[in-house]
Amino acid sequence: MNSYKRQIAMLLLATLAVVSIFATYLFSSYQARKDLRQSGERQLQMIALDLEAVLERHETLPYTLSYLPQVAQVLAHPESQDGIRALNLDLQAIQQQAKIAAIYLMDAQGNTIAASNWDQPQSYIGQNFSFRPYFQDVMQRRSGAGHFYAIGNTTNIPGYFISQPVFASPGLRGSSEPIGVLAVKISLHEFEKAWRSSEDPIALSDRHGVVFLSNREVWQYRSLRPLDAEVQRDIQATLQYSGKTIHAISALSKKEQNGYGEYLTRPIGRLGWQLMLFPDEAKVNTAGLESAAIVLLLLVVLATIAAAWDQRQQRLQERLAAQQALQQAAAQLEQRIAQRTRDLTQANADWEAQFCKLQQAEQVLRSTQNEMVQTGKLAMLGQMAAGITHELNQPLTAIRAFADNADVYLQRGKLEQVSANLHHISSASERMGIIIAQLKGFARKSSEQLQAVNVTQSVHAAIALLQNDLHRLGLQLELHLPESLLVLGDNIRLEQVIVNLLRNAMDAVEQQPRIWIEIRVSEQVGQVWIQISDSGAGLPDAVIAHLFEPFFTTKPSGQGLGLGLAISSSIVQAMNGTLQAENRSAGGACFTVRLPLLNAAS
Ligand code: ADP
Repeated sequence: MNSYKRQIAMLLLATLAVVSIFATYLFSSYQARKDLRQSGERQLQMIALDLEAVLERHETLPYTLSYLPQVAQVLAHPESQDGIRALNLDLQAIQQQAKIAAIYLMDAQGNTIAASNWDQPQSYIGQNFSFRPYFQDVMQRRSGAGHFYAIGNTTNIPGYFISQPVFASPGLRGSSEPIGVLAVKISLHEFEKAWRSSEDPIALSDRHGVVFLSNREVWQYRSLRPLDAEVQRDIQATLQYSGKTIHAISALSKKEQNGYGEYLTRPIGRLGWQLMLFPDEAKVNTAGLESAAIVLLLLVVLATIAAAWDQRQQRLQERLAAQQALQQAAAQLEQRIAQRTRDLTQANADWEAQFCKLQQAEQVLRSTQNEMVQTGKLAMLGQMAAGITHELNQPLTAIRAFADNADVYLQRGKLEQVSANLHHISSASERMGIIIAQLKGFARKSSEQLQAVNVTQSVHAAIALLQNDLHRLGLQLELHLPESLLVLGDNIRLEQVIVNLLRNAMDAVEQQPRIWIEIRVSEQVGQVWIQISDSGAGLPDAVIAHLFEPFFTTKPSGQGLGLGLAISSSIVQAMNGTLQAENRSAGGACFTVRLPLLNAAS
């Protein structure tokens, strides 16, 4: 993954993390709020049921009491101290039995004439409660029963008051004026105590929104919202809250307001009361934050693990890449070494093959050379044998024929014929003799004694030998001969060479329109050259190739043996010289004998 994609992925993950943390916070807050509400509602319901039960439990008590005959009697005879005392004791007993705050009886003017707390320092007896709504409502028959909550005027203890009118006799209820009012006071103080155990604020407010019971003491006798002047006045008039001015809770200090805010509520009783529970909103926030923190922690742990894993993975990948690179390098190296080795082996093999070929070639060459030497010799021997056979066979056949004929002639007595035949036999054998003599010259060994030979003299001697033939041809030789040049050799044999060459030249020019032969002897850097040139037809390539082979001739049978140049060449070689032939540019052939010059000193 490249870094750009990585960054985008990180950004997305980070966004996702933030969103999930926030979502967790929201969800968990929502859940906590729901839970809080549910538990709040439950708590509220329980408190409300308790409260309602207490209020209802004593609802009928004043009604029942108003029917007591001694009640009407006391009202009828307020001067009777005994009757009052007896009633006081009765009321006290009932109050204690019913576990309520007080039971008391007022006359039609609101003066208390009997009370359960008759023996208490803060006894109601003698107190006038005509200003209280629960008295007025009942006396003026606005309602069957009176209900009121107030701080006790005498005791300063708050309580719930329930009142019933008292009639002179029970039969008069509904038709005549009440003669007094019987009231019970129920303390709600116990609730306040019970609520203290609750963490959340609980409050009970009257229909004006004035809190009169709460586990938050400072909220007591304070209103949920500021009260208008009329309501304030009303409250003052009934001394409901001991004449206190009621301030709003919102006027309290922040610390004192703590917990005040949204609340759950339920209506309670007959006086438009409201029971309120203030769920601790901070709990909601705390729960949300806690969950978010857990998720955050989880994400951090996850991110740490992921980062560690990623790093490990990266390191692994790096190690793998390095390993691969190393392996690749090693493989390349191995490959290169193998290639080099192959190349070297190949080169070596090539060399060996070439060497082998060279050796083979050498061997082939050597054997070819041997073969060539051998075949050359054999060929020459064959040629010689054929030539000799051919040359000797003719005269031999002739001799046999003449001899046979002579025999026949002899038997017939023709002696002349016999003599003629014998003559033929003689000339035929003479010819055989010439051939054999020529062969003898060829066969002579080269290791004979050599001596200083004057080349010019040899040339003159040769010309002298051929004088007749030269005359016959009418040929004037062109001679270029120096005074004297010496070579080491055999003068007879050198003459023979020159005679051979001159005779060939004469044969070559014989049929030519221009007859010209030149003999030139010259000294050339330590050599003596004898050149014999003619105006003949020259030497065709086919002839040059076999020129010095024995018995090679272009001449008709009987005129040439083909031994001249072969013999001449071997004579010159025996004198450490060479014999070569070439065509002259002007036409005709030129034969050159090269011999080492014998200097004067030697
Ligand atoms: P022969 O003369 O008996 O033929 P040679 O060995 O002397 O034997 O000569 C061989 C051949 O060389 C001749 O037959 C001829 O064809 C050729 N030859 C020799 N000399 C000459 C020359 N001067 N000009 C042309 N051809 C020549």
